[in-house]
Amino acid sequence: MSFPSLHIHAGRLPLVLLSQLLLLFPLSCTLHRHHAMSDFKIPFESNPNQTLTYEETIACYEKMAAAHPGMFQLKTAGMTDAGLPLHVAVVSHNGEFDPMKIRQSGRRILLINNGIHPGEPEGIDATVMLLRDLLNDPARQKVLEHLAIVVIPVYNIDGCLNRNSYTRANQDGPESYGFRGNARNYDLNRDFVKCDSYNARSFNQIFQTWMPDVFVDNHTSNGADYQYTMTLIATQHNKLEAPLGDFLQKTMKPYLYAEMASRGWEMIPYVDGPGDTPDQGISDFCDYGRYSTGYAAMWNTIGFMPETHMLKPFADRVHSTRAFMETVIRFIDENAAELRIAREAAWKLTREKKEFVLDWKADLTHIDSLEFKGYTAKYKPSDVSGLPRLWYDRNEPYTKKIPYYNQFVPSLSVKKPLAYIIPKAWEPVVQRLELNGVAMKRLSQDVELEVENYRLGEFQTRNAWEGHYFHYGLKVETQTAKRRFHAGDYVVFCDQPANRYLLETLEPQAPDSWFAWNFFDPVLMQKEYFSAYVFEDLAAQFLKENPDVKAELEKKKAADATFAADASAQLDWVYRHSPWYEPSHRVYPVARLMKEAKLPF
Ligand SMILES: [Zn+2]
Repeated sequence: MSFPSLHIHAGRLPLVLLSQLLLLFPLSCTLHRHHAMSDFKIPFESNPNQTLTYEETIACYEKMAAAHPGMFQLKTAGMTDAGLPLHVAVVSHNGEFDPMKIRQSGRRILLINNGIHPGEPEGIDATVMLLRDLLNDPARQKVLEHLAIVVIPVYNIDGCLNRNSYTRANQDGPESYGFRGNARNYDLNRDFVKCDSYNARSFNQIFQTWMPDVFVDNHTSNGADYQYTMTLIATQHNKLEAPLGDFLQKTMKPYLYAEMASRGWEMIPYVDGPGDTPDQGISDFCDYGRYSTGYAAMWNTIGFMPETHMLKPFADRVHSTRAFMETVIRFIDENAAELRIAREAAWKLTREKKEFVLDWKADLTHIDSLEFKGYTAKYKPSDVSGLPRLWYDRNEPYTKKIPYYNQFVPSLSVKKPLAYIIPKAWEPVVQRLELNGVAMKRLSQDVELEVENYRLGEFQTRNAWEGHYFHYGLKVETQTAKRRFHAGDYVVFCDQPANRYLLETLEPQAPDSWFAWNFFDPVLMQKEYFSAYVFEDLAAQFLKENPDVKAELEKKKAADATFAADASAQLDWVYRHSPWYEPSHRVYPVARLMKEAKLPF
């Protein structure tokens, strides 16, 4: 507000003077308040091989915020590992930027995320142009009667600042771009549940604030060559609650595919399948909670990762990304009421159903077919190794039916408990539940309760993956026992919107559980042991006093010759069946309360 007279008279200033002033004060919001100031151009529009830098992107959003205060709001919302705050822009009519009030008015919410992989920057440029043109054209603003658009302009700020021209080795432009890893070299599109990065923790909170109906996370794909510029990962529809999955599969996806084709950007599902080349078939992608759309699915949000093809020119990739977002916006505008109904039915199921699926697998007996426009895959001797190498012959395009595996079935399910009890010591877990707005109560005094405990059995571990030693394939044994809990421990009832998130993170067998991501590793280690020469006498006395254990030992010796010949193994076996063995070893700390109990709060 330092230049009010300039603001009022800007339109009458000689052009030369105005441009000089702009050079002097390039970041002054006051100067940009004039409507015309949001009619800027971005570098892409004069050179289609350029993408905005982080600083240029935020400057564009600041211009739009200054020019359209009644329709556009730009705020910072949480920190990133880069030490810079995330920005969140909201486009909404009537100056209403409160998510609760927007929802109460019946409008839907679309969340768009850009630059999670900054080497794949189409969404950054496409969204700036889309928003600018919407804000400058009243005819385009009709859609705001049915939805609000929320945008994270750049999510991986860290990687976006790490600009180079090489790390997307095979990609056709832009000439320079950011890097995939964030400031701590995390892939943020694996971090939505474990939340190692501040970026992800801030995202969890932004997502909970807006609880979008539809979520779009813009990407570029690698892989095979084919004729399409745009490929699409949609939330695997069987992973959504049935009413919402059906809506996505039968109503929304057919609309998006048809509309994109009519705009000249025919799409194909993300090209990933059982063979080396796409003509052997395409399979839907199982988007677990670590991925953006998988996290969204935990909250009954339909998610899309549009993946433009890296071998197509950057300009085509930007234009098709914009076309996709505009198509999604149009669909929501035309189907707002149906989307609301489908989502409300899904929420009801999430709150009330008794059994939850933890993992899925492709149903290989159910094969659809898909018309695919590819290029013929061929092999020729490599100039590098002399061995056969794959190449796609663009002079031999083909159109043919290929197998499409798009039905997934549950491979692991579990009954939900009445509540989980989380001992207060496991703070990193509690913090993540808090970020996600999970309702928790705390015990006001110590109490003994009958609960289900998991004893952790065998599992496999993947070395040094995304900052973790990721566990998978866990086997558990369920034991019902009395267990003592303490004042301050957390009780999490499974009757809330967060149910699915709770089951998929707190059940240790779930593919993206806290257990899988090493949050509970300390309980895997035994802390005390025995001195064999001393324990020999104690063990002998214990077997004398416990003839049933002794009988079990003799039976095992009779059945297992190796065991019968191994003195240490037998002593260890007795120790593990004795009261000296620590009861907490390999017991999963989070308990499942299965029946109503009087709980002190
Ligand atoms: Zn990506």
